[in-house]
Amino acid sequence: NPMRVYNFSAGPAMLPEPVLAQAQAELLDWNGSGMSVMEVSHRSKEFVACAAEAEATLREVMEIPDNYKVLFLQGGAFGQFAGVPMNLSAEGDEVDFLLTGDWSAKGIKEAAKYVTTNALVDEKPGNYTKVPPAGSYQVNPNAAYLHYTPNETIRGVEFGYVPDTGDVPLVADLSSTILSRPMDVSKFGVIFAGAQKNMGPSGMCVVIVRDDLIGRARTITPSPWDYAQMAAADSMLNTPPTFGWYLLGLVYKWVQAQGGLTAMGERNKAKADALYGFIDGSDFYSNPVQPDSRSWMNVPFLIAKPELDKTFVAQAADAGLTNLAGHRSVGGMRASIYNAMPLEGVQALIDFMKEFERTNG
Ligand code: PMP
Repeated sequence: NPMRVYNFSAGPAMLPEPVLAQAQAELLDWNGSGMSVMEVSHRSKEFVACAAEAEATLREVMEIPDNYKVLFLQGGAFGQFAGVPMNLSAEGDEVDFLLTGDWSAKGIKEAAKYVTTNALVDEKPGNYTKVPPAGSYQVNPNAAYLHYTPNETIRGVEFGYVPDTGDVPLVADLSSTILSRPMDVSKFGVIFAGAQKNMGPSGMCVVIVRDDLIGRARTITPSPWDYAQMAAADSMLNTPPTFGWYLLGLVYKWVQAQGGLTAMGERNKAKADALYGFIDGSDFYSNPVQPDSRSWMNVPFLIAKPELDKTFVAQAADAGLTNLAGHRSVGGMRASIYNAMPLEGVQALIDFMKEFERTNG
């Protein structure tokens, strides 16, 4: 579609075009109702079925075991920085963290309102350019849980393995890497992810939680964040963001039609390999992250003449490659290449980068 750009935003991010086209086609008359899905009661038979189907598709795509609940909550992933300690810990508890970037740092700061936080590793002195090797840290056996960030969106740092925490529940902020490759859900106590990168529009946070961790919320927990109450109410204790939920369902179907997480993983690896391969082969561009810790989803890069950063971003946008500025806290550039970004988009970026280097290098 010539109207569409390749959008490299970190989130809200590019969505699959067939999903947008379907939402457009159904907007005025959803499901023969004579209304858009936004105008239908969340308690209606039709919407309840739509919500249940979205969950069922996600369960299939991620192969979520039966002893896990899937919750569709509000308050974003940031909300769960508080929601997790409120649901999984008691006052005075200790919680382990792996500090590998800006989002785990924010998670620690928020959790510190509720628990004693211990950062088992702190990658900040190295400017968040790697994840700790498996087995290089000692999990506190008394910790209520261990929280980590499998993919750090800002610095583009991703774990290539799942930490082994023994009996300590493992909590993962999967916001920027959910659905990007196959994973074994049974290794986790809680998975949470904001929707606006790989799943749909902003406004929802998907929480996947093991049954035995439900029902321990502190009494101060707001009811819409209490996993037990929300699980009992099928995430409809109050009015959910209905349009977002519907769109998530369409994206899950799209992922399934693409061949599921195995196919997504292959595509995403090919995209990341192409971009990192080009950057590593160039003297003009660089990526600071240790190769074994590089993200498949967020690729930050620097140019040899940082005074040209703004020119790069502006000329790229003119060429239909948008939102390539790095996070405001780090500068440089960042290409977020989530599931909806096709390989052609990454190739178009590489071609642009070559040409930019030729004229400015
Ligand atoms: N965790 C990670 C890894 C993120 O990338 C983000 C958003 N960029 C958040 C948490 C916060 O998510 P939200 O804005 O949905 O609260």
